[in-house]
Amino acid sequence: MIDARAAVLFEAGADPALTDVVLRPPVGEEVLVRIDAVGICHTDISVAARWPARRLPMVFGHEGAGTVVATGPQAELRGGQPVVLTFASCGRCPYCVTGRPAYCESSTDHNMRGDGAGESSALRLDGHPIAGGFFGQSSLATYAIARQGNAVSIDDGLEPALAAPLGCSVQTGVGTVLNALAVRPEDTVVVFGAGAVGLSAVMGARIAGCRTIVAVDPVPQRRDLAIDLGATAAVDPSAGDVTAAVRELTGGGAHAAVDTTAVPEVLTTALTVLRPRGALALVGLGAPVAPLPVGLIMGRGLTVRGVVEGDSEPHTFIPRLVALAKAGELPLERLVTTFAFEDFDAAWSAAKTGRAIKPVLVNGS
Ligand code: NAD
Repeated sequence: MIDARAAVLFEAGADPALTDVVLRPPVGEEVLVRIDAVGICHTDISVAARWPARRLPMVFGHEGAGTVVATGPQAELRGGQPVVLTFASCGRCPYCVTGRPAYCESSTDHNMRGDGAGESSALRLDGHPIAGGFFGQSSLATYAIARQGNAVSIDDGLEPALAAPLGCSVQTGVGTVLNALAVRPEDTVVVFGAGAVGLSAVMGARIAGCRTIVAVDPVPQRRDLAIDLGATAAVDPSAGDVTAAVRELTGGGAHAAVDTTAVPEVLTTALTVLRPRGALALVGLGAPVAPLPVGLIMGRGLTVRGVVEGDSEPHTFIPRLVALAKAGELPLERLVTTFAFEDFDAAWSAAKTGRAIKPVLVNGS
């Protein structure tokens, strides 16, 4: 048994609280990972806010980076291996076996529901099992158990605090642009929302060499950062007609748009800024329904598609992101604000209020 500290949600609607927990040893192809750093993503916050009381207590966290310290008998990973933890998938369904694990048939069970606090749960509190397994990791903790399938081996040499957000936010933003929209240098791209995901989409468009990249966000500091990271223009949606501004900046409309806001009115605007045959990627979580402007979509031959985790196959895409970061192409340090692990409350609050774009807890123990 391994003693650990974890951010445990005890009460529906409250914030998680740092608590002493115990992890059981890894079994099968599981690995026990010492979490060296873990990012807080808006998905942790939005899912925690509506987590049902019957599945409490629960540990969230799905951007863990750390070091393998123990392995189950079927695991091929070895102790000492640096890993980035990412989303989980079954590894067997038609989507997993064809390199599209983000669309795994049992993705919701593996990532969003937790493991149900049964006897097989990795976590114990005061001797009783509690729910974990969020995104197959529950890594808002000093140790986490993951499966080999969602523990991605990476090279040494990238700081854990910068590696952590590669597991979700950065993979999602960069992958949406490079993998899902597959933009070309001659394309114009507009990104709605300049948080960790949107700014990663901006960096992805810059890596692809896009000639015009527009970021839209009401927060001035986020617009400024978008420009620093490669946007060629930034638009304040509270300052006037976004459609007119983006059409002018893109010479008649964008080829591709990315929505990270999940605000229904923004989705409509995102469609109006596209040129004929343009594509909108829906990435933000939180608008269960939104009006569909059928005439616009049909008349201009637009594509609207959802994108999970940047369409990526993480065992190939995350090492590519690590190489890009080491080559200076992904200045992750501009997104990340680090907090000591024991300052969890401050980090969670900074994520909730937007004071930090990507708060990352660093485990100094
Ligand atoms: P964030 O809150 O930091 O970013 C959202 C940004 O939208 C903020 O900067 C905010 O100022 C901006 N915004 C608000 N209203 C706006 C408007 N009217 N027009 C333009 N911008 C506006 O969040 P994030 O961490 O970047 O995550 C973005 C979303 O992506 C979240 O909903 C998250 O849950 C989701 N997500 C999805 C996936 C996926 O696989 N699809 C993966 C990770 C995160």
